[in-house]
Amino acid sequence: MRILVVEDDAAISDAVCSALERAGHAVDHLASSQAALSALHDHAFTLVVLDLGLPDGDGGELVRRLRAAHDGVPVLVITAREDVDQRVRTLDLGADDYLVKPFSLAEFDARVRALLRRQSNQGVPVLQLGALELDLAGRRVLRDGQALDLTAREFGLLEVLASRVNRVTSREHVIEALCTWNEALTDNGLDIAIHRLRRKLAGHGVNLRTVRGLGYLLEAGDGT
Ligand code: CA
Repeated sequence: MRILVVEDDAAISDAVCSALERAGHAVDHLASSQAALSALHDHAFTLVVLDLGLPDGDGGELVRRLRAAHDGVPVLVITAREDVDQRVRTLDLGADDYLVKPFSLAEFDARVRALLRRQSNQGVPVLQLGALELDLAGRRVLRDGQALDLTAREFGLLEVLASRVNRVTSREHVIEALCTWNEALTDNGLDIAIHRLRRKLAGHGVNLRTVRGLGYLLEAGDGT
């Protein structure tokens, strides 16, 4: 999933970005409220990790402006402020969850997973796809308890398509979800990843179709 981290403290943003990358996400990092607003206007993110004390303003104001623009992207606030009123205000403005610094990266990872589960409307940590189980927390795919050999990119691709199972996902949406500003995904790279993933899913009750001119369709029964 593509995640935007808005944090001006280099040590914290390094730790948070590394944790998200280790979990297999595409991560972009910005250090100001203005830059974040324009990035959120131009690109689709699955989640925003937001510091409240930014050099050019309050992260709460950013949340308010996002919600005023009907942007429902989940926002996880990370804040050094121990002030309860501030946290209440930010949640009331439309933030989805918060963590008070310093926090453990294990808890951070778990909160990100919980928000992403809610976002994909599945709410469950393990998704049944045909004969396969997609373990979102462990970032692996199992068939009868045996893990399939998928690369991080193939898993990321499957995760994006699985969040829209039995519905067409546009090529643009897939590229937007998987690439970052530093690491592009070329058309050719996407074709190769789709081809490899399709081969690995074959025989497991999951069908990855290309719908010409529209995008991709992941078809799967519920495994019963
Ligand atoms: Ca800060």
